[in-house]
Amino acid sequence: HKEIEELKSLIRDVPDFPKPGIVFKDITPLLHKPWAFQKVIDYIGNRYVGLGIDIVAGIESRGFLLAAALAYKIGAGLAIIRKPGKLPYKTISATYTLEYGEDKIEVHEDAIQEGMKVVLIDDVLATGGTMNAAIDLVERLGGNIISVDFLLELTFLGGRERIQKRGYPVFSLIKF
Ligand code: 5GP
Repeated sequence: HKEIEELKSLIRDVPDFPKPGIVFKDITPLLHKPWAFQKVIDYIGNRYVGLGIDIVAGIESRGFLLAAALAYKIGAGLAIIRKPGKLPYKTISATYTLEYGEDKIEVHEDAIQEGMKVVLIDDVLATGGTMNAAIDLVERLGGNIISVDFLLELTFLGGRERIQKRGYPVFSLIKF
């Protein structure tokens, strides 16, 4: 509706970033607006009132911005899923394929305990490869994934189907 359209108008297209031919969706104009960031967190977080979510897990680095605010709003703990070599304690890791080559993400092995209700969040859903690897990590720690959330979804890349195939609900506030 109208408010979502307003939020959508605050996403900026940046051509040829991070490399030629890619049009990057820049969320910073939305973050810069006080009411807009608050609206985003309220829209996402109000869906969890009374659900007893234990942990919000955010993916480095823009996912952290959303995860931290969301965890605070719903009174959940915060788990951070990071690029390799950043976390100080014992970690588990998942590897995933990119267009060219591979990438890896890690989480502390004690970030999530067996049976905890987990919401996963990142800024953008593109191919779903990153989130798919994050789901692997949460599953290996025994987390019970309640929802997989994004601020923004690039619908033409099929990421949603990839995640739903694993049996998890996908929510995105803004779709392109
Ligand atoms: P995927 O793994 O779904 O292909 O890519 C999603 C990951 O790459 C997310 O962590 C997201 O932050 C980043 N990403 C990919 N494309 C974009 C984009 O256009 N804008 C932003 N902000 N992040 C992107």
